[in-house]
Amino acid sequence: MSDQHQNLAIIGHVDHGKSTLVGRLLYETGSVPEHVIEQHREEAEEKGKGGFEFAYVMDNLAEERERGVTIDIAHQEFSTDEYDFTIVDCPGHRDFVKNMITGASQADNAVLVVAADDGVAPQTQEHVFLARTLGIDELIIGVNKMDVVDYKESTYDEVVEEVTQLLKQVQFNTADASFIPISAFEGDNIAESSENTDWYDGEILLEALNDLPEPEPPTDASLRLPIQDVYTISGIGTVPVGRIETGIMNTGDDVVFQPSDVGGEVKTIEMHHEEVPKAEPGDNVGFNVRGIGKDDIRRGDVCGPADNPPKVAETFQAQVVVMQHPSVITAGYTPVFHAHTAQVACTIESIDKKMDPSSGEVAEEDPDFIQSGDAAVVTIRPQKPLSIEPSSEIPELGSFAIRDMGQTIAAGKVLDVNEK
Ligand code: GDP
Repeated sequence: MSDQHQNLAIIGHVDHGKSTLVGRLLYETGSVPEHVIEQHREEAEEKGKGGFEFAYVMDNLAEERERGVTIDIAHQEFSTDEYDFTIVDCPGHRDFVKNMITGASQADNAVLVVAADDGVAPQTQEHVFLARTLGIDELIIGVNKMDVVDYKESTYDEVVEEVTQLLKQVQFNTADASFIPISAFEGDNIAESSENTDWYDGEILLEALNDLPEPEPPTDASLRLPIQDVYTISGIGTVPVGRIETGIMNTGDDVVFQPSDVGGEVKTIEMHHEEVPKAEPGDNVGFNVRGIGKDDIRRGDVCGPADNPPKVAETFQAQVVVMQHPSVITAGYTPVFHAHTAQVACTIESIDKKMDPSSGEVAEEDPDFIQSGDAAVVTIRPQKPLSIEPSSEIPELGSFAIRDMGQTIAAGKVLDVNEK
């Protein structure tokens, strides 16, 4: 075990093997008890799906998390010599892309899974684009399912070339990307160098993970805790739960919830079913605040110190990148914004500047519209109160996804908040 912590995203097109890889990583690092694996293996064999045990492990963990005791909202974890990794979000999740952008799922680095027999697919593009927009430091590309293509070097090379082109297209520095031929299913080049790929002499996956750069040190910003859910627990009362993004929470602190605009003194903090006197960034906590009832606060509120409360935006200016939109985006457009745990309809009030995505220079002032592939600075007016922070002050609370028609159509970072 090490005390360096990393949030790791596993990204890639559906069915390319993300869940299988997570199961494999947990398994190889001894993070899942053997008897649990065994149980799933038997279950899988009974259903005639021999070999599916890792996906089963994933399903089981996700399920446990959902049905689990309300306060325990921890994610999957495994360790290498260098780092304790938390896999952010469950990759099978429908809302993965959205979650990747908002709050709890912010990752330091990512593993991109690309199936060797399929190559770059639509979600591969989407996820790489997001990784770049959100400032993922390094990308490890697992060219997966090598067993399906008979471990052919030429197929691997083709996929590497295809992904390299994609990275260049979105201006991701290819020096920050490393490629590994793997089979999540068979375990090739995950924990041990595989004889099936004797033409490959680079790092195996666990080595590459171990050699990732250290995450940026957390900001010394004051407490920001986006509320994920609010429960009523007998004997305690109202218990909001969420993950501390920045700052420290101590019992006895005076806190407020914004935009609900209520507050009080922190009476108790609970983590992993135990009472603790204080909690810090990355901790998933349930806590209780004197005088706060279940209906006073809701998911999407942000808890912060009473003397440095979370900002509530009347309007805010942001840099956005449009990923996919069937037509054009003009002023007046009102999609749903997902920021940390909040979902609020917001109107794009004005499109202020269009940027040249490669140079970052202003390409056009006050453009009439923006479309897929464009980067722009826009002014946004939330239709309901929204707590959000400038990315330069609190990056953890300064990014958002824009969703419409069941898709993530854009991602952005907050430049400036005009407070209510
Ligand atoms: P996800 O949607 O990206 O999470 O993909 P899954 O992990 O659910 O995998 C999709 C399918 O591909 C499942 O049937 C897996 O068993 C299979 N699969 C995943 N990795 C490999 C691999 O390395 N080799 C082979 N042959 N199949 C794999």
